[in-house]
Amino acid sequence: MTGKKTLRIAIVGAGASGLMALIKLREAGLPDVTIFEKADSLGGTWRDNRYPGLTCDVPSLAYRYSFAPNSEWSHVCAPGPEILEYLKDIAARYDLERDIRYGAEMRTAEFRDGQWHVTTSQGDEGAFDVVLAAAGVLHHPAYPDIEGLDTFKGDTFHTARWPDNFSLKGKRVGVIGTGSTATQITGAIIDEVASLSLFQRTPQWILPLANDPIPEEQREAYRANPALLEEEFVRLSAQQTESFAAAVVGENPRAYEALENYCKDHLNLVTDPDLRARLTPDYRVGCKRLIMSGNFYQAIQKDNAELVTDAITRIEPAGVRTSDANSKDGRLHELDVLVLATGFDAHKIMSPMIVKGRSGKRLDETWASAQEAYLAVTIPDFPNWFMIGGPNSPVGNFSWLQTAELQFGYALKLIETLRTGNVRELSPKPEALRAFNDAVKAKMPDTVWASGCKSWYINKDGHVASWPWTFDKFKRDMTEPVMEDYLFG
Ligand code: NAP
Repeated sequence: MTGKKTLRIAIVGAGASGLMALIKLREAGLPDVTIFEKADSLGGTWRDNRYPGLTCDVPSLAYRYSFAPNSEWSHVCAPGPEILEYLKDIAARYDLERDIRYGAEMRTAEFRDGQWHVTTSQGDEGAFDVVLAAAGVLHHPAYPDIEGLDTFKGDTFHTARWPDNFSLKGKRVGVIGTGSTATQITGAIIDEVASLSLFQRTPQWILPLANDPIPEEQREAYRANPALLEEEFVRLSAQQTESFAAAVVGENPRAYEALENYCKDHLNLVTDPDLRARLTPDYRVGCKRLIMSGNFYQAIQKDNAELVTDAITRIEPAGVRTSDANSKDGRLHELDVLVLATGFDAHKIMSPMIVKGRSGKRLDETWASAQEAYLAVTIPDFPNWFMIGGPNSPVGNFSWLQTAELQFGYALKLIETLRTGNVRELSPKPEALRAFNDAVKAKMPDTVWASGCKSWYINKDGHVASWPWTFDKFKRDMTEPVMEDYLFG
């Protein structure tokens, strides 16, 4: 590494992406790196989400960093706390915490004289040559705008703010929402609560996925033979990317048809025709983020469960009031606990940071009508600023760890050009971004996300917020930056 320029690098966020970036920057011979983390511990989404039933719905053996294979997952889909332990264990193994500044929320980043001048909630942090923003996509809880929410007398909280050691045993619990989170919670709590009222605004398609334990003998086989672990990784990743991810972007019609059939057959587990009808979506499979569950339909049919499909009119001290065709006052669902499984604002990437690029250009203003980034990683006029998880990143049903490593690899190749000393700043050409966005828009109609439903896959400007091509194309695009698409100064 001799002869290369030293760079001072700031990473935003000590989640799965930021930790990986720190490890890889050190390995690349870049030791002057600081992660600014607003919370007081690492782990990102796996730290924030602690609700009952939390599991990764990407099979665990495909959910790992390339440099840290893991033979120890307890289940086909690992419970959230195990994933958090995996991240903590890696942080300890690589001695990452010495470069993490907890309780330091990045507030401003301003590009002046070829460097990013950074302030955090702890004050002025000085100048950095490069910023890697790895602040996550789904971390701003979305609270429902329902009249009277603050009048509820019982306990209420968002699923990403689950109180520690909170018991639901014997309580009357209401859950608003029917996304992946609510579905996992329903299956996990049904046998301990007195009653569960699940408030559904829109039904969801659910792919059957039994989450079996991985037996100790199997784990021992992986321990003894790392090649076997790798084979499983390759097999599961291929299954995920070829049959699932390619299907939802219109690249594998047969696999898509199979997905549809699995979901429709799965729904037949619901025996009561009225309940089945109320659980049947009127949009295409995969339009909203497809849910995986092996216990939701069983849970919602239990005697202590009720699927409430009448609209919520308001929240009162005693519970949730819904409209009711038979009563002008509607119906009050009395509750002890109200859980808000209402999702996240996925379009607040980087918020509330104030980021000012060349000539004071503000990122929030640049993105006011649409969040756009060249290949999801870089932005014109915001030099030496790289994103992991930027707009149009492949999110959803891919392994995020793989995606993040690929995006980092792309960014590192560009960062290497800054180390030569011949280049002080780089950013994508505006026409490169335009061409990328035109291509996203042209591909959008092929994706099932654009087939007519409301979901966080669609931006506020009506365009697709995820990667509309195959994972193979993503890998190819991340392999080698096209240097002609960049301006170097
Ligand atoms: P979500 O998919 O955005 O679902 C939010 C739910 O809340 C929807 O059912 C929505 O109804 C409902 N809702 C929102 N506001 C409402 C209101 N005012 N009144 C009534 N209902 C309202 O959120 P999520 O379930 O937390 O999942 C978010 C994402 O996190 C997922 O898509 C996934 O990417 C990720 N996730 C992953 C896992 C995993 O295992 N890997 C687990 C959980 C979550 P509408 O559909 O009508 O809008």
